Amino acid sequence: MQLPTTRAIRPAHIIIIAVLLAVVMVVSAVIELRQSRNELFHLMREEALSLVETVDQSSNNIILSTEKIEEALAERLFNNAYFIARLDSAGRLTQRELQAIAAANSIFRINIIDNTGRKVLGNTLPDREHRGMQEQRSPRETLQPILEGTADKLLIGLREPRFQEGKRFIVAVRRTGKAHGAIVLNLNADAMLELRKTIGIGKLMKDLGDNEGVVYAVLQDKEGILAAGGKVTEISAIGADSLLQYCAERDTVVTRIISGKTGELFEVIRHFKVGGVTLGIFRLGFSMDEIHATEERMQRRMIIMTLVLFAIAFLAVASVVAMQNYTRLGKKYTVMQTMTGNILERMSDTVISIDGGQHVTLFNREAERLFDTEGQTVVGKRIDEIGDPVARCLGEIFTAKDGAEIELHCGRGTRYVSVAVSESDGGEGGAIKTAVVRDMTDTRILEKEMVRREKLTAMGELASGVAHEIRNPLNAIAMIAQRFLREFTPRKGAKEYRMLAGVLQSEAQRMNGIVQQFLRFARPPGLRKEIVPVQPFLDHVSSLFGPQAAEKGIALTVTHDGATAWSFDREQLTQALLNLLQNALDATERGSIELAVRETDSGLTVTVTDSGVGIPEEDKEKIFNLYFTTKQHGTGLGLPSVHQIVAQHDGTLEVSSEIGKGAAFTIVLPKG
Ligand code: ADP
Repeated sequence: MQLPTTRAIRPAHIIIIAVLLAVVMVVSAVIELRQSRNELFHLMREEALSLVETVDQSSNNIILSTEKIEEALAERLFNNAYFIARLDSAGRLTQRELQAIAAANSIFRINIIDNTGRKVLGNTLPDREHRGMQEQRSPRETLQPILEGTADKLLIGLREPRFQEGKRFIVAVRRTGKAHGAIVLNLNADAMLELRKTIGIGKLMKDLGDNEGVVYAVLQDKEGILAAGGKVTEISAIGADSLLQYCAERDTVVTRIISGKTGELFEVIRHFKVGGVTLGIFRLGFSMDEIHATEERMQRRMIIMTLVLFAIAFLAVASVVAMQNYTRLGKKYTVMQTMTGNILERMSDTVISIDGGQHVTLFNREAERLFDTEGQTVVGKRIDEIGDPVARCLGEIFTAKDGAEIELHCGRGTRYVSVAVSESDGGEGGAIKTAVVRDMTDTRILEKEMVRREKLTAMGELASGVAHEIRNPLNAIAMIAQRFLREFTPRKGAKEYRMLAGVLQSEAQRMNGIVQQFLRFARPPGLRKEIVPVQPFLDHVSSLFGPQAAEKGIALTVTHDGATAWSFDREQLTQALLNLLQNALDATERGSIELAVRETDSGLTVTVTDSGVGIPEEDKEKIFNLYFTTKQHGTGLGLPSVHQIVAQHDGTLEVSSEIGKGAAFTIVLPKG
C-alpha cells in the first residue's frame, strides 16, 4: 500500500522563522528609534535656532539702544561743556559757578585743565577730597589731542576716575579765548552701568542661562567671554576649537552635540555681529536630559512592543506546530487504521497498545466489545485520564504476566481472559506495549459444563442402577402394605394396625416417586423440539407458578424482549423453569421473583432472579451435584435435572449470587 507523504515544518525551520521574525522586529524597532531620535533632534534644533535668532535680535537691539543712550548723554555733556567754555572765555568762571552748573545738570565733576594738564579750576577742591591719594593716571595722555590743538572735543567715554573707585563717563572740549587747556566734564557712570546690566546683554545671557533646559548662554570673542549666563565652567576659547573659529569668521549658524563634564550637551553656535560689525560668537548650550528621558521611554516601549510581538509570534508558531502535530497524529492514526485496521478489526482477540507515556494508541473492535466502550473515547488518552472500570482493567492487563489468565470485571460482567503482552521499540515515544487479550469465558463455562455433565452422568448411572434394584422390592412392599390394609383385620389394635399399614404404603409410594425421578433423570426422555411462540409459553409457565407464589405473598414479574418464537422442548423447558422458580420461591421470604427472556448474540437468554437468601460462594458449584440440598425435605434433584434439560438443548446454565441479596440462574439456549 502507498502511504500518503506528510509535509511538515521541521523544528529547524521554526527556529529560523522565529529568529528571522525577531531580527525583523529588532531592526524595525532600531529604525523606529533612530527616526524618532532624529525627529526629536530636528525639533530641538528648530527650537534652538529660533531662540538663537530671537536672542540675536534682542542683543542687537540692546547694544544699539545702549549706544543711543550714551550718545544722548555725551551730547548733553558737550552742550554743558560748550556753555562752560563760553563762560570761561568771558573770564566769568568761578568755582561757585561750576558748582551751580554741576548741581543743576547732575554733573559729577567739572575740571578746567591748563595746557600742562594741571587742574586750574573745578567744582570741587581737589586738595580736600584727594589729599594723599595716588593719582591713577595723568589727564595729559587722555587729553593730548585737545592740549595739542588737534581736536576741539573729545568723547573719552567710560573711564576709571583718577583717584576713586567706580566709573565715569567723560567728555572734554578745548578752552576758547586766551586761556589754553581743556574743560573736562564727567558723570558718575555707576547708574548707567547698572542700567546696562539690567537691560544689557549680560542680563539677557543670565536670563537665558536661568531657563530650564539651557545649560549656558555665552557671548564670546577671541579675547574671551563678553557676557554669559548659566554654567560657563565648560566653555572653551574660540582659538581652541576649529568649529568656533569657523563660526567667528563666517556669518553662519551650526549645531552640534558635545560631551561635557555633566553629560552630553546640544550646542547652537551663531556668528554674532552688531550693525554689520562682527563681535564674536553666540553659544547656547542645551541639556540633553529631556531627549535622553524621551529616548529611554521610547526604548522601553520598543522593547515591550518587541517582546509582545515576539511572544505573539512564538504563540503563533507554537500553535502551528501543535496543529501540525495534531494533524500528523490524526494522519498517522488514519494510516495505522487503514493499514492495520482490517486485520485488527477482524481479529477475534482484543488488541490494545499503549506507548511509553501510557497513552492508548490502539483499541480494536473486540476491545470495544470487551470493555463496552467506544475506541475514540480511549485512543490518545493516558490510562489515568480514562476513568474506571476501563482504566482499572487496562492496568490489570498491562501488569499481568505474559500468558497469565485473569478475571476482568468491566463492560460485560465477569470475563475470564488470557493475556499476552509484548513490548516493541516505539522510537521517540518510548517502548510500545501491546496486549493481546483472548476472552476465555465461554471456554471456561463449557469446561465447567463438561465437568458437571460428566459428574452427573456418572452419578445418574449409579443412581439408575440403585433405583432399578430397589424398584422391585419397593413395589412388593407397597403391594403387601395394600393387601394388609385390604385383606387383614387384627383382633386387637385394629386402629393402630391400619395407621401403620397406611404409613408403610404412603412411604413406599413416596420412595417409588423418588426412584421414578431418579430413573427419569438417569434415562431422560428424548428431546421433542418444536418452534414455540415465546409469549404464550411464558404465560403458561406464569399460570402454573403464579398461584403458588401469590399464596406466599410474592409477586412474579415476567418480561419478554426480542425473539417471538424459539425452538425447544416445551414440556422439558417448562419443567426446568418450574424447578428454578420453585427454588427461588423457597429462598425468598419477602420480595419478588422475575422471569426475564431476551434475545442476545448467544441465543435465547432466560433468567430467573430472586431477592432471597442467596447462595454461599462455597456452594455455587455443589448445588448442581445430585442430592445436594440444604432443605429439610429437599431431594437435591432439581438443579441437576434443570442442568440436564439445558445440556440436552446444547445450552448453558450459569448462576450468580450475592449472599443476602438473592440469586440469578441464567439459561442460554442457542439458535436451532
Ligand atoms: P432441592 O431443591 O431439592 O434442594 P435443588 O437441586 O433444586 O434441590 O437445589 C439444590 C440446592 O441449591 C438447594 O437445596 C439450595 O440450597 C440451593 N438453591 C437452589 N436454588 C436456590 C436459590 N434460588 N436460592 C438459594 N439457594 C438455592
